[in-house]
Amino acid sequence: MRIAIIGAGFGGMAAAYDLKNAGHEVTIYESANYVGGLASGFKEPHWDWSVEKFYHHWFQSDNEMLGLIKELGWEDKVLFPRPYTVLLHNGKWYPFDSIIHALLFPGLGFGLDKIRFGFVGLYLRLTNNWKALEKYTADEWMRKYAGKRVYEKMWKPLLVGKFGPYFEQVNMAWMWARLKARTTRLGTFEGGFQRFADLFAERLREMGVAIRLGVSVESIKREQAQLSVRSEGESESFDKVLVTTSPNLFAKLSPDLPENYLKGLLELKSMGAVVMVMSLKQQLSKQGYYWFNLPKEAGYPMLALVEHTNFVSKEHFGGDHIVYAGDYLQVGHEYFSMSDEELLERFTPAFKKFNPEFQRDWVKKVWVFKTNYAQPVPLVNHSKNIPTIQTPIEGLYFASMSQVYPWDRGTNFAVEIGRKAVRLMDSKQ
Ligand SMILES: Cc1cc2nc3c(=O)[nH]c(=O)nc-3n(C[C@H](O)[C@H](O)[C@H](O)COP(=O)(O)OP(=O)(O)OC[C@H]3O[C@@H](n4cnc5c(N)ncnc54)[C@H](O)[C@@H]3O)c2cc1C
Repeated sequence: MRIAIIGAGFGGMAAAYDLKNAGHEVTIYESANYVGGLASGFKEPHWDWSVEKFYHHWFQSDNEMLGLIKELGWEDKVLFPRPYTVLLHNGKWYPFDSIIHALLFPGLGFGLDKIRFGFVGLYLRLTNNWKALEKYTADEWMRKYAGKRVYEKMWKPLLVGKFGPYFEQVNMAWMWARLKARTTRLGTFEGGFQRFADLFAERLREMGVAIRLGVSVESIKREQAQLSVRSEGESESFDKVLVTTSPNLFAKLSPDLPENYLKGLLELKSMGAVVMVMSLKQQLSKQGYYWFNLPKEAGYPMLALVEHTNFVSKEHFGGDHIVYAGDYLQVGHEYFSMSDEELLERFTPAFKKFNPEFQRDWVKKVWVFKTNYAQPVPLVNHSKNIPTIQTPIEGLYFASMSQVYPWDRGTNFAVEIGRKAVRLMDSKQ
């Protein structure tokens, strides 16, 4: 069969790999002039490694992603350093990414709250019954079972930070998935995520997959026995098409989808993200911390501060220290329209809180990345809202971040859903 894939992110490329291995003729259309999608990276001439535009790492539980890398023969290029994630309490930072650290964290006291925190954490790690949890909001469930203090100290800041105005509506299965599928050790690829994406694209090309970079698909229409993909004013026909864009974009590409399916796509909610990357002359966190969780009520102008070079060595970046400052925001938030300089001005006072010696002239260079589609928002009973991979248009398939539920979005689940879509496409010949 002749098959088109729209999008050369991790999902689209994983699907292309399986489709080609199954003997199909595969063409990937990618509007950007690089592969990797949301997990792509960039590189300065004096850096050996690339830096992800939006901070990225893998968990040891990312079996689909790590399994694919193993199949490709690159498992020796996966690194799992031991970076430190910290949480704020009374103006001080405490490591908070292991059971021992959680037990030592003073923010929850050392009495009943800590015990409730422990039991709730254990229950969520052990249960697989996420369907029972999606009936409740995380706000109501956590308040009830973990208790007000634990909820307000630990879980509420996470929900507020990630989901802004939707924080009270997000369901408990999201929180379950987060606690279930995460590990203390965090992984990356030698050379960065972009290196993996480039190697993968190179392998796909060697296998005979056509990857058309810088080609934006404008529409997909059913025309008799085939699907017509229109880009740059020309149409090409395929037996099947797999779309891996956001639901919103998919609705625009395929307006002939039945009303019900279109409505389902358009009603899905998501948050955008604005992330600033800086190269610095000096290390920001002297303690060597990697990830700072920043509660919104503490007044920080961002949700997360991430010192990448406290995760991987600065030697890969010509000695530059790489720091991210990012936030999940609704599209239309002022950060989306601010210039890089304005955003740096807004964030700069906060950097002194991580290191009082910080000076503006430590900043060598700044890059700002923005995306409207960064984090799907799962509401109560969300499983009913997930668009099917096989759409009502024959031969047209859809696999996106919004369908990996109950899991939270991530490259691991992009690979999983891309490969799942292939199994569906191949079983319907
Ligand atoms: C801030 C942030 C932090 C993250 N952190 C992590 C992390 O730590 N670990 C992790 O594993 N994941 C993380 N993720 C999630 C991860 O990036 C995504 O889950 C994954 O990259 C999604 O892959 P995908 O292939 O489904 O979609 P995408 O990567 O979005 O790929 C879709 C592709 O379609 C292309 N496209 C769109 N429209 C068209 C068109 N009309 N024609 C042709 N091409 C088109 C796009 O350019 C894009 O390349 C993070 C995401 C964000 C935003």
